Formats: sequence, structure tokens, C-alpha cells
Amino acid sequence: MSDTFRADANRDRARIGRVLSGEHARPSLRAIRPALFIDRDGTLIRNTGYIKNPNDVELIPYAANAVRRMNYALRPVIVVTNQSGIARGLLTEVDYERVRARVDDLFAERGGYIDAHYHCPHHPDYTGPCDCRKPRLGLFERAIHEHAIDAASSWFVGNRWSDVEPALHYGARGVLVPSDETPADEIDRARREAEVAQTLTDVVHMALPG
Ligand SMILES: [Mg+2]
Ligand SMILES: [Zn+2]
Repeated sequence: MSDTFRADANRDRARIGRVLSGEHARPSLRAIRPALFIDRDGTLIRNTGYIKNPNDVELIPYAANAVRRMNYALRPVIVVTNQSGIARGLLTEVDYERVRARVDDLFAERGGYIDAHYHCPHHPDYTGPCDCRKPRLGLFERAIHEHAIDAASSWFVGNRWSDVEPALHYGARGVLVPSDETPADEIDRARREAEVAQTLTDVVHMALPG
């Protein structure tokens, strides 16, 4: 066996080892793309307060249309929601899952889908500090890694400043879509430090130009 042949064989073995370990393959799987990170309660569905009963789920106007248009554009729609009702003992994880399934059904009936849901079940007063309650980044970090998301070109949308603030961390676009429960000072802050839109239709126009 010539030295050249042996060197080639060793290089091939090393390359195949990297492929099998995933080290070599991951870059191609990481065809990173922007996502729409979106709040649930008060943004996609009406916030009736610690929603426990699937029958209470009601889509907000334009939500189904906006999600469908993101689906057509192959832009992942990722719900990130604080569910402190679980920490407060007002609903269980099972209740949360039933509500989530109802949300998915309502979008499916209208020809759209949420790509993934992430929730924080904590509240500092009940369960101590956590790294996943918005505006903390824990759930966003998980989603970014699990779905090969490019955070900097993603959009962060919701009816509270805590939904929008993560955009500042990633150098991304954040859009507040005020609802009845949005405090005025949060709207002012979003006008200064991020963006404000009247409806989710406006957000789609911003995120999917042309
Ligand atoms: Mg909300
Ligand atoms: Zn949490």
C-alpha cells in the first residue's frame, strides 16, 4: 500500500467518522431560516385569563389568515407563551395540552398550522426564578436550536413588551400588537425601541414584503 493511498484512506475514514457522528452533516441540516416567534394569549387567541377550558379558545381576527400566509411562505410559526396559571395551580399541564390541541384544531380548520409551541409553566412568586419565562430567553434558545432558526432575522411578536423585548437581544425585529390589556407605557416603549402594528395582517406585510 503506497503512502499516498494510506493517507487517502485515513482521510476518508476520518471524514466518514465525522459524517456518522453528525459533526460533518450538521452544517447542511442547519440551513438556518427566520421564524415568527409569536405570543399566544392576547395575540393569537383572546386572553380570557389563565385559559383552562378548550371551549374558551377563540381566535383573534386576522390570526388564522396571518398564520396561513406565514405557512405558505415556509416561515416557521413558533408560539412562545407564559403559562403561570400552571404555577398558580389554576390549570394543569394536561389542561394546557388540551387547550394547545384546541388552538391547533382551530388553525387547522382554517388551513394553517403552528409549527411548534413552547410554554413556561412557572411564576417567580410560586415556583422561584426560571430561565424560560418571557422576556427571558430559555424557550427561544430551545426553539432556535431545535428548529435551526436564525434568530437575528426572525420576528418577535406579541401584545406585551415581554414578547417583543427578546428581539433586542438577538438584534431582530420586534413588533408589539396591542390588545385591550396592553399597558400604555409598553406601547410607548415599543414605539421607541421596537415597532408597533395594529393587527397581525400588518405584521405579515412587514415580515413578508412583496
Ligand atoms: Mg399575551
Ligand atoms: Zn419558566
